[in-house]
Amino acid sequence: MNIEDLLGYARRTGMFWPAAEIYGGSAGLFDYGHIGAMLKRRFENIWLSYFVERNQNYFLIDGTTLFPEKPLIASGHAERFNDILIACKKCKTYYRADVLLSDLGVQLNEGATPSEVDAAVTKNSLKCPKCGGPLGEAKPFNMMIDVALGPDRSDHGYLRPETAQSAYLNFYREYNLLRQKLPLGLAIIGRAYRNEISPRQGLYRLRELIQAELQIFFDDQSFLPDFSGFSETRINVVPYVTGKLEALTPNELISKGYPAFYVYHMAIIDRFYRKILGVPDSKFRFLEKGGEDKAFYNRIHMDIEIEVESWGGFKEVGGLHYRGDYDLTSHTKGSNKSMAAKSGDREFIPHVLELSFGVDRNIWAQVDLFYRSSDNRQLLSLKPYLAPYSAAILPLQNDDAINAKAKETFVQLARKFRVFFDSSGSIGKRYARMDEIGTPYCITIDYDTIDSKSSNFGSVTVRSRDSREQIRVNISELENYLTSSINVMLE
Ligand SMILES: [Zn+2]
Repeated sequence: MNIEDLLGYARRTGMFWPAAEIYGGSAGLFDYGHIGAMLKRRFENIWLSYFVERNQNYFLIDGTTLFPEKPLIASGHAERFNDILIACKKCKTYYRADVLLSDLGVQLNEGATPSEVDAAVTKNSLKCPKCGGPLGEAKPFNMMIDVALGPDRSDHGYLRPETAQSAYLNFYREYNLLRQKLPLGLAIIGRAYRNEISPRQGLYRLRELIQAELQIFFDDQSFLPDFSGFSETRINVVPYVTGKLEALTPNELISKGYPAFYVYHMAIIDRFYRKILGVPDSKFRFLEKGGEDKAFYNRIHMDIEIEVESWGGFKEVGGLHYRGDYDLTSHTKGSNKSMAAKSGDREFIPHVLELSFGVDRNIWAQVDLFYRSSDNRQLLSLKPYLAPYSAAILPLQNDDAINAKAKETFVQLARKFRVFFDSSGSIGKRYARMDEIGTPYCITIDYDTIDSKSSNFGSVTVRSRDSREQIRVNISELENYLTSSINVMLE
């Protein structure tokens, strides 16, 4: 599937499309429709349940997306949250330097400076791909979006560039509220904003994006999670030093020098993608960044990558970052509030391990991986618990008694499940619509359901999405049937 095919599917089914579409849309801004919003919510809830709610030391918080400027000066964003901008001198088109150079076949390090970009442009005699004109000097471009607050708009602020900062700003209070214990995890699912120079590739590079992030604050001398249950796992990883894909057990990773707490979280993330989301083994990996490609504050930096056909290969959908004590040290300096923690007589600034996920990118990847279109079938084979709707209620014939029973069944199931009601069109078309949005079960109400003389009285037909098998289930058993079939999330 290419990007246009996936966008076509997303529009046709109610997943997502450009914001302000009726005015022609705006680059890097997407709205979710009635199917996509539910898929996104399901993903967020599963993420929350898996990464946060199963750990007694991890908690969900929420924070504003509007920030005063001081914390973002302290964090370094005001100075360093830059991309490099390059403009054509002739047609005035602006380009993000790394994207432009990569499109023209020249690879740059992520940390390349403007003068390195200029040197690469000169060396390779690069021209504007649009008009062939000469390219101007490369310049740093801050990606944060300014806001002017107050009645005279004199208070300078920013839309937050990442949810992580909200967690760092709330560490001080939460640490004290939660009895000064470490590790302490603070999770946020929310929006972040970046003035991307060239938004593109559907939901890949957005100006407004949704992140699900967990910041774990810990004592680097005593953070030793329990490995039992992961010892046999093999994790796909491309270490920076070898640059080659390897499938390594946690013990092998530790023997290569990665700290145990880091490896443990690699294993947790690996299980999330392969078991919970069902991403095939060969399409999931960690890619370690090093040297110039690594953010300066990260001690260990791995991208979480999925092979996404419409994006042309392995792409970043998240990251696992050991940030050391950079964040709390910066905010201690900026705020004059001590963020030190105590262990016995020792005082120290907690370190941070960040688990970061792009929700929009993961939604796109799910559709790319699990939507298949063939001559006779369009099917989104998501894991049942991720599907926007768990079941559909379909009255087989247009008959008052059947419709009444169907509505009654809908009301009964809708208390516990997300259920879609569809009474229009042939039953084949209705099944096809549900297959296309990944609904795992279709429940058909027919004459037998309401005929007290029938041996099938009181039962309905339940059709499974993937196998297309149909069985009769008693209405009184439906709730149990769906619960056991859909809500099984983990071994
Ligand atoms: Zn040009």
